[in-house]
Amino acid sequence: MVATLSMSRIADLVRLQETDLALDSRRATLADAEARLGETQDLVDQRARAEELRASVRAAEASQKDVELEADALKAKIAPAELKLYSGSIKNPKELGDLQADIDQLKRHLSAVEDRDLEALSAVEAAQGELSTAETQLAAIEQAWRDEQAEFRDRVERCTAEIATHEAERSKQAALIDPELLARYDHIRRVHQGRGVAKLDRNLCLGCRISLPVSAVNRARAGNTLVQCPNCERILYT
Ligand SMILES: [Zn+2]
Repeated sequence: MVATLSMSRIADLVRLQETDLALDSRRATLADAEARLGETQDLVDQRARAEELRASVRAAEASQKDVELEADALKAKIAPAELKLYSGSIKNPKELGDLQADIDQLKRHLSAVEDRDLEALSAVEAAQGELSTAETQLAAIEQAWRDEQAEFRDRVERCTAEIATHEAERSKQAALIDPELLARYDHIRRVHQGRGVAKLDRNLCLGCRISLPVSAVNRARAGNTLVQCPNCERILYT
């Protein structure tokens, strides 16, 4: 038990608590900033969406290319057939008629393929448009993410430096305090939300907001014995 203590000892504890609270706050900020470092779900999702759309564009382009090749193959059949038709080399009317019919059939087929080619081209354009929009969104998300990450890295750096300063200060402050009293303060701090000392306001403990018995208030006011709040255990100061 710490039987007696001077006012300056309590003042040392109060200063120590200020440092401890500053440390707690910096450590919480540091932990929060560290947890936010890294890619966000939004970024990962948008990147995946852009990748999907790039695949869609490639697929649409491949389909359109297939249709174009189909049209080219038909044209490659029609051209020599027409040459033959108009060359005058075929005299037989039945043979001429059959050739004409074949050419007409190929041209109808070509016309249908060319319609599909137009549709395939608009599908490529639509896919490219979607991709372009998604890439613009991705670029904006990436930029905002990079800015935010830079801020979190700054915060980590700043908090780490501040924590080092406060820790050095705490070591100096703790060295001035009776080890038994310091141990008691540390214990109370651990079990009572980081606060080991509480100010007394009239007869009210500001640590737990409970009114104290007159005897405890008077002893705390006298300031030469260690008085703990009977409710929250915090070391009282006036
Ligand atoms: Zn209390």
